[in-house]
This record gives sequence, structure tokens and C-alpha cells, in this order.
Amino acid sequence: MDDTRLVPGLILRAQSGFFDVHTPDGVLRCKLRGRLTLPRRGSDLVAAGDRVLVQPLDASSGVIERIDERQRVLGRRAPSGRPDRRGQRQQVLLANPDQLAFVFAAEPEPNLRLLDRLLVVAEAERIPALVVVNKIDLTDRKAATELFGLYEKLGYPVLYVSAKTGRGIDALRQALVGKLTAVAGRSGVGKSSLLNAIQPGLALPTKEVSEQTGKGKHATVFPELVPLDGGGYVADTPGLRAFALWDIEPGELDAYFREIAPLVKSCAFSDCTHTHEPDCAVLAAVEAGRVDPGRYESYLRIRLGEEGL
Ligand code: GDP
Ligand code: ZN
Repeated sequence: MDDTRLVPGLILRAQSGFFDVHTPDGVLRCKLRGRLTLPRRGSDLVAAGDRVLVQPLDASSGVIERIDERQRVLGRRAPSGRPDRRGQRQQVLLANPDQLAFVFAAEPEPNLRLLDRLLVVAEAERIPALVVVNKIDLTDRKAATELFGLYEKLGYPVLYVSAKTGRGIDALRQALVGKLTAVAGRSGVGKSSLLNAIQPGLALPTKEVSEQTGKGKHATVFPELVPLDGGGYVADTPGLRAFALWDIEPGELDAYFREIAPLVKSCAFSDCTHTHEPDCAVLAAVEAGRVDPGRYESYLRIRLGEEGL
């Protein structure tokens, strides 16, 4: 093999043994060099977001020769996967995300308990999170700030935007530039509209378009990366399955709530669950109004295992 012919690239899409790789020479449809497919198979071995070295075969195809080690991973529980090193059955959905953008609509009333769950996943995976509040044209800024200001105080960037009026779109574009961002949110919050506002043609079809064509928006759970004009990539993460809380031990949950984590050392019991114990610093802070009741409710719901996404 002649190493000088290898070009660096990033996997945009993995599908049935073929990989679309973004290289300085354009997008090449690639297969894996045979020996690379062992010992792991398919999407686990190479996922969107993986950095690779490719040997171009012609102007539109090539062979993946090397796969860089992953820095981070966004996964979900595989329906029938093999257990990984930690005994988990994980399926890699996206490799190396730099940040997660959680999109909510200001109207109708956003589900902040869902936001808390998503933030726990971001904290557990150590991936910076960004909150995007769309449809700000449907409410006033003050009402939206009352709901989401708490998250700004916790240190999460919150962007108030409208795909409809264009408000905040420049700031959103700026936040995405040069990074690999996984965009997630419930269907209907306006993810596709936002991506199209940032860069026309970027998104999968919006609701209106997919209703017209009768084509479902998300035929697959695997994200596809789309290169941004200014540099960076956006992955429209289909559904919220990638953000299931499957990898989190109950005892470590408190570490993933930013305002709860620093209190834990002041609890009387080192294994305090912060649900009922005497001399619990978390319960005391909730009573004193220093921890938001909604955030604490999210902690309880996850801790007591009452919720699935
Ligand atoms: P997705 O399912 O998250 O991709 O949501 P879509 O982009 O398909 O948008 C869902 C609906 O919300 C569509 O009817 C959009 O026209 C509408 N929508 C999207 N963004 C905005 C916005 O900023 N303001 C308003 N008023 N409606 C919006
Ligand atoms: Zn406690």
C-alpha cells in the first residue's frame, strides 16, 4: 500500500457496508478494506463522525484504510448487539460529537423534564450541550427566559431563535461553525426548519414537505452528517433514542446535575440517595429554594426509574 495516496476524511453516512466520506477531494463512496471489518462489524466499527484515511480509487469512490480512535461516542442500546467491554450492548450512532444541541419549542409549553434527561446524557458522556429555544415568535422573550433562564444560570448556553422570523439564526449558525453538532429534539419543534434557515438545503425535508411527498422524514435511526458552508458538520439525530439513560448508574446520577453535584459531599451519608435521608444537603437546598423544584423532580424521576424517553 502506498501511504502517499491516502487522504483524510470524515464519515458522513454509513449504510449497508458503504460509507460516504467527506474528503478534501469531495465526497467519496467507500468500502472498508477487508481486514478492517474484523473483529467488529458494520456500524459499530465505523459510524458517522469517525475520522478515517481513505485511498481514492477514482473521483467518486475509495477504500477506507484506517480509522482513527474515537474521542467520544453517542450510542443507544442495540436491539440485539453483543455486550461491549463494560458488558453493555451499545450501538454507536455517532462518533466524536463536539456538542449536542437540544431543540425545544417555546410554544406549546416545553417539557423541561425531558431537557433535564437530555442534559444528564450530555454530562454523562462529557459532551458540551447547547439549548436552542425555537418558535420564540410565538411567545414573548420574558416568558421564555422564565422557563429557560435557569439553564443559563447552570452554565448551559441557551439560544432563543425563530426559524420563521430569522431571529437568533446568525447566533445559532455561529455556535455551530467548525464543530460536529448532533441536533436533537422532539418531532415538530422545528429542527428541520432551523437547519434550513441556517443553510438552505441542509436539513431533511420539513414536515410540510414530507407530508406532501408522503415520504417519512426519518427512515433510519442513523444520523447523517451534513457539512456546513462555514466549516463543521450537523447531524440531525433521528428520534431521541440515542439519548436513552441506559449507561448511568443510579449512584452516579447526582454528579450529572450541575447544581446538585457540589452539595453531595455535605450529606450526612456518603451513599445518600437524596430522596428521604436525614441531614441531606440536597433536600435542604430544595427546601430552601436553592435547587429548582423541577430539576429535583427530574432527578427523582430518573433515580426512581419512573421514566423512559
Ligand atoms: P422538526 O420535526 O423538528 O424537524 O420540525 P419542522 O421543522 O418540520 O417544523 C414543525 C412545524 O413547526 C412546521 O409546521 C414549521 O413550519 C413550524 N415551525 C418551525 N419553526 C418555527 C418557528 O420558529 N416559528 C413558528 N411559528 N413555527 C415554526
Ligand atoms: Zn443527600
